[in-house]
Amino acid sequence: MAHEVREATVPAPRDGRRVLMTAEGLTKHFPIMGGFPFKRRVGAVQAVDGVDLTLYEGESFGLVGESGCGKSTTGRLLTRLLEPTAGRIVYRGRDISHADRRALAPVRAEIQMIFQDPYSSLNPRQTVGKIVSGPMEINGIRPPGGREARTRELLEIVGLNPEHYNRFPHEFSGGQRQRIGVARALALEPKLIVADEPVSALDVSIQAQVVNLLQELQRELGIAFLFIAHDLAVVRHFSQRVAVMYLGRVVELGDRDSIYRRPRHPYTHALLSAVPEARLGEGAEGAGAAHGRIRLTGDVPSPILPPSGCRFRTRCWKAQSRCAEEIPPLTRLPGNEEGHLTACHFPEDRRAISARPALEDTAAGRTGA
Ligand code: ADP
Ligand code: MG
Repeated sequence: MAHEVREATVPAPRDGRRVLMTAEGLTKHFPIMGGFPFKRRVGAVQAVDGVDLTLYEGESFGLVGESGCGKSTTGRLLTRLLEPTAGRIVYRGRDISHADRRALAPVRAEIQMIFQDPYSSLNPRQTVGKIVSGPMEINGIRPPGGREARTRELLEIVGLNPEHYNRFPHEFSGGQRQRIGVARALALEPKLIVADEPVSALDVSIQAQVVNLLQELQRELGIAFLFIAHDLAVVRHFSQRVAVMYLGRVVELGDRDSIYRRPRHPYTHALLSAVPEARLGEGAEGAGAAHGRIRLTGDVPSPILPPSGCRFRTRCWKAQSRCAEEIPPLTRLPGNEEGHLTACHFPEDRRAISARPALEDTAAGRTGA
């Protein structure tokens, strides 16, 4: 059941913004069943393992990492589409970690999700009008001018022609379909939208348009966004704060500029070096070149048997024996800006970004680009 949380541990407001949601030790282990007749639990996929996050009202927060790092699972836990294995989710002062359907209903209206694939997330047999007005109908919401008028208004807000109310999803392009998904997410006037790689499936030429739309909505309507992406370039454009995830854990978190200009975690460096400098945009001066030539080798290890200690150590050029023994805590390192947290025993030098010698000279796992 949801109940009020009254504790001194609730984070303080930041830049005048109040806390919207916190996750503490958020964990999702998917059981692996084996044997016959498939009833025995033989292991678990540790998709999310002890994530701490705070989201503020109206902020845009980016969550990045390679595929398989647990980003979508985190998004589904925060929207409570999934039940956490352990940990706590507090939304506007209420513990919703294990809230049941009824207790969740009002929260569900305030937290919406936009999915990666704009086609499979829309019912092909429903008209656009039906799709967008659906959430209002389900929640018994009657806007002043009626649902249809409000739906047409929503279509207009997301840049669609309200006259297309009676058309079906297949009559729209990918970018337009994603706009339909956005209109549906807006129907209940949410306080938080979890956008799970909302532009990854779109043509590059369309991506910027949809990102711009989301950015306008975030600013004008004051909706908080959790923007999930594997691409640091997209998030840089959109998010004021960024968390980097690796194999179920947050390895680095901080204000955008701090993360992009002075990343301390080797994994963040590697992700940045994978993005062409031009795509990082203004203000990332030298970042691409300085982070460059770090090439991650191999895949993300299996979350069924993740490495001990620091999970990144098997792909890290700085790893030492301590990294296998101790999980590095996510903390503010000496010299880090406020709010910039890093989970690494041997972090990168924060001053060395633009003055660094060629990286490939110094360690294995780095190759000339
Ligand atoms: P990302 O979104 O970062 O690509 P996901 O959260 O989708 O990562 O997945 C994290 C890990 O959890 C992956 O190894 C994935 O295969 C696994 N996983 C996700 N959903 C399930 C599920 N329902 N059952 C079992 N394993 C899952
Ligand atoms: Mg995903």
